[in-house]
Amino acid sequence: MTWLEGLFAPRVRGGETVPQSLVAKHFDELTKLGNSPGATPTQRALIREIIDTRAHDVNFLNSAGQPHVDRNYPDKDRPGYDYDVHYYAARMPRRPGWQDTKLPLWERLGDLVHEMTHVAVDRAYGKDFINYSAVPRGTPPPPNIKKDGKTYRIINELERQTAGINPDANRIASSNLSHLKRLLGSARLSEEERKRVDGWLDYGRGYGLGGPVQLPGKGPDVTPSLEYDAVLNQVYLWLIQWRTPRDTDFFKALEEAVGDALSKRAEARKVVGLADETDEALRAVPIVPELLEGAELLVAL
Ligand SMILES: [Zn+2]
Repeated sequence: MTWLEGLFAPRVRGGETVPQSLVAKHFDELTKLGNSPGATPTQRALIREIIDTRAHDVNFLNSAGQPHVDRNYPDKDRPGYDYDVHYYAARMPRRPGWQDTKLPLWERLGDLVHEMTHVAVDRAYGKDFINYSAVPRGTPPPPNIKKDGKTYRIINELERQTAGINPDANRIASSNLSHLKRLLGSARLSEEERKRVDGWLDYGRGYGLGGPVQLPGKGPDVTPSLEYDAVLNQVYLWLIQWRTPRDTDFFKALEEAVGDALSKRAEARKVVGLADETDEALRAVPIVPELLEGAELLVAL
């Protein structure tokens, strides 16, 4: 199976727990990236946030299909839940007809950061993984929590997300990703790297990788509200690991967008009383204009 097939593979519940030693190794690698001499304040703060997010009852599973995050409720009537983060920790899934593929470390770490960003977003905003605090367009239906194997899950999550998005915030996130796509030519990437980044920017906008095919069940009307922060952070981590030059229009705009989303999550955590040490690190991050006010394009530089 290629990484592209993996993206469109079904989400598989359960899966093997990733050995603690391997999770520790991946977080050690992230820590190194956060502490590297050339790390910018945004880089340090993002990695700090991802590391801190691990404390929120996260279980790590080797993804047996499309990487994703599930929430587990102990009971439908009891508050609280933990997260299952399915990522490509050890190997791609072995299935009939699918080739087991060895992924490079940069890909595994990017995948881990993508999924951990979904957790960070959920912790910050408390809005079913929607990545901003803007007022929703409708009233999401109450969560319908049903038993699923050994645990309970919300089975109307997408319905709640669809009602809970703010179309303006969704459009701005999509515009920002389009703007980054337009700057991509400046990024000094290899052709293969450029295609991968371009594909993920499309994914964040609600399209298939590099094409106009809408993602099943979501599409551009909802997807940026769920994938924007995760895609930005994943691509940013890739470029850092590839040691891509940082003095390009693309990198600067990407880092600004990453830093802006990071600051907004920190602010949102304060509102819901979850502010933590991550916010100390954020003081060095430049604050860019408010996402929902003024200019249509956050990263239109
Ligand atoms: Zn995602």
